[in-house]
Amino acid sequence: MSPAFHPRSIKAAALVGSGLASFARTRRADEVSILTFHGLSEGDGDPAILDWALHLPVEVFRSICCMLAKDYRVISMADLIEARGRGTTLPANSVVITFDDGYASNYELAYPILKEFDLHATLFVTTGFLDGDDMLWFQRVDLALGRTRKELLDWKINGKTLRLYLGTRELRQQSLMRLMPELKELTNTDLLAEVDRLEEALGVGEPEIRDLPKSLRPLTWEMAFDMTLSGHVDIGGHTHTHPILSRCNTMTMRAEIAACRERILAEIGELPLAFSYPNGGMEDFTRETLLLVREAGFRAACTTVSGRVNEDVSMFQLPRYGSPESVWEAEATVSGAFETLKDWRQNCVRAMSMI
Ligand SMILES: [Zn+2]
Repeated sequence: MSPAFHPRSIKAAALVGSGLASFARTRRADEVSILTFHGLSEGDGDPAILDWALHLPVEVFRSICCMLAKDYRVISMADLIEARGRGTTLPANSVVITFDDGYASNYELAYPILKEFDLHATLFVTTGFLDGDDMLWFQRVDLALGRTRKELLDWKINGKTLRLYLGTRELRQQSLMRLMPELKELTNTDLLAEVDRLEEALGVGEPEIRDLPKSLRPLTWEMAFDMTLSGHVDIGGHTHTHPILSRCNTMTMRAEIAACRERILAEIGELPLAFSYPNGGMEDFTRETLLLVREAGFRAACTTVSGRVNEDVSMFQLPRYGSPESVWEAEATVSGAFETLKDWRQNCVRAMSMI
């Protein structure tokens, strides 16, 4: 299905077409929106992977950048950090573009578009992934379910048995969606052991990084350095191996954050200013994580909790919107139209209850 016909995009198109987005853009001009992207994809996607949610079609990203360049002011994380630190005002309708994980498609597909529209982005990279040491654990799960010859697997996890149907690509995608939330419940050590066991049970070995499908390949450090020299990109941290930090003990958490910072400093020649928490939900980091990130010298950190950045939010829990699926969704998001509509609905319900 084309992203343009996704129900959220249809709602967004109505908000843009009705003028609500431009109304909200004026009313909420002093709030900052941060957008999260991951990889980008070309054509109809790569049949070698099951989960396409993290790989936005490049033409959608291009149309979003075109809209942002025309009607918004794209600023860097450094601009946001400096303005909040000094108490200065940011330009009206400021937007920050971010990418998580560190995919090669950030360089191959996103970077030329950023240059074309003279926009800036922050890339939050998983440094061990760029080092070429390890692929990300969720990539291994995707490839194991996608490559196995088995058609059925009964998998015991978290005290239950999941019957994973693997007979068709669609069934494999559904099985992946059922398995992932269960895996995210495990401690980091148990999760990695579980992925090993899963590969064994499915009869697939751990893939080498060079065998990764094109869309899953990491950036190289050369690509990252090249982009930072242009001034269109800065590099932020996203841990060393992408564990969910709340599922790690203190020693691992500290080591993941510190190694990430050190590798970026060594390869880019600058300390990263900002960090993003893997998975990024409120349950995916703890108060201790915030302290360790600050202690490591980061000056801001992003979640994946939707919301707008205003004076009230902590610089170590910056809300971010997920990747929009269409230019309408992007516009309804950054303008604040979705929130404005929600506020109106709540006010309406309140007013009706008083009648
Ligand atoms: Zn990530």
